[in-house]
Amino acid sequence: MNRVVVVGAGVLGACVTYHLARAGAHVVLVEQAPGPAAGTSGATFAADVTHLKTPYAYYRLNRQGSEGHLRLAEEIGGPGWRHPVPHVQWADDEDGRRALRERTSRARQWGRDCRLAPVSALRDLVPAVDPAACPTDEIVVHGDAAWFDAPRFVRALLDAAARLGTVETHYATPVTGLPRDGERVTGVRAGARTWHADAVVNCAGPGADRVAALAGVALPLRRVPGLIATSGPLPGRPLTAILSVPGLDLRPTADGGVLALSWEVDGRLRGAVDGLPEELHRRARAVVPGVAGAGIVDARIGVRPVPLDGLPLVGEVPGAPGLYHLVSHSGVTLAPVLGRLAAGEITGGASASELAGYRPDRTVAEGVEDENLRAMDRRGARPAARHEAKAQAEV
Ligand SMILES: Cc1cc2nc3c(=O)[nH]c(=O)nc-3n(C[C@H](O)[C@H](O)[C@H](O)COP(=O)(O)OP(=O)(O)OC[C@H]3O[C@@H](n4cnc5c(N)ncnc54)[C@H](O)[C@@H]3O)c2cc1C
Repeated sequence: MNRVVVVGAGVLGACVTYHLARAGAHVVLVEQAPGPAAGTSGATFAADVTHLKTPYAYYRLNRQGSEGHLRLAEEIGGPGWRHPVPHVQWADDEDGRRALRERTSRARQWGRDCRLAPVSALRDLVPAVDPAACPTDEIVVHGDAAWFDAPRFVRALLDAAARLGTVETHYATPVTGLPRDGERVTGVRAGARTWHADAVVNCAGPGADRVAALAGVALPLRRVPGLIATSGPLPGRPLTAILSVPGLDLRPTADGGVLALSWEVDGRLRGAVDGLPEELHRRARAVVPGVAGAGIVDARIGVRPVPLDGLPLVGEVPGAPGLYHLVSHSGVTLAPVLGRLAAGEITGGASASELAGYRPDRTVAEGVEDENLRAMDRRGARPAARHEAKAQAEV
């Protein structure tokens, strides 16, 4: 039986743990926080972003991730973490509208349920939205979208993995060293404790470059913080779609509230977050008036682990065999496929052709390849600087 240590209990760590245990491995899961989903996976927008992804090969990988959620839900059961709702977009100028039309046409060519609709369609589709907030007569509706309750997803996976009987979990256990035999990484050290393993999987999210550095590996990763604010339940009609509109993204929450994110607001994250949750609330209630009476019940910063070219980093690098990296932005969408393929490779399967373009030692392009991430960079969200220390803290 393979012995594997997984570092990090977020969506990627939980998914690979589950698939490793299914494949018969003995897994030790080591997490620095006192519980699961305490990192980015607990402070994320967590929409299924498949329909926004480019280039085509990366779109296809995301589609496999999205389909993987459905398969996993059937396989492990339990309370659902996937919430299918339409995704509605609009733009406020001609350039934005042209870009949306082009993407709509491409999405349809790629087989998506995606259409242009008149603004009057909002009445039936998302009655919580004030149509007067939409400064255009054209909206885009993606029919096969969804949002995920990422912490619930992580718990469901870890519960299912625990039922398989070969998983040991250690919380409040920061990994501080990677023992080696020659070049080979042979386990993890956490303070005075050491676990030996045939493979170590680095699923430390935005901390993955620091874990890699313990073995002398430089991962091409940047940290991009994002502020999310959650309202209480809306007093009137609930939000029934994900919205991506100028300066704002909104999605429903499990208890009838909304979760708000703005790349422009993220661009103003500089140490202090004073006033920014209120700014998100102001933007949200301008589009969904019910948010006014719901207030903000939670605001926190999540840190996106973004490889320099925007695409996942999956696999070992020469010079540190035994240490397998599994790091990605859009990790909630991708976790089912990345976790399954990585577990297959780690437990001795053939190398997965789907992962060939995502090896961490590839020549990483200067620019970001994923169009959606490029848009995020352009509109404001930027790599962490001073406020990094406050990352993922409640604010
Ligand atoms: C604002 C925002 C919006 C986003 N929107 C979306 C979206 O719409 N759709 C989507 O699919 N994705 C989205 N993402 C990205 C997605 O949330 C992440 O890609 C995903 O959560 C990363 O999961 P992970 O398991 O790799 O990392 P994490 O969830 O951060 O897990 C890593 C874990 O490793 C632990 N760790 C770190 N270092 C150590 C150590 N030395 N020892 C032990 N443990 C350690 C951490 O405590 C953490 O729990 C968004 C992210 C943000 C911040």
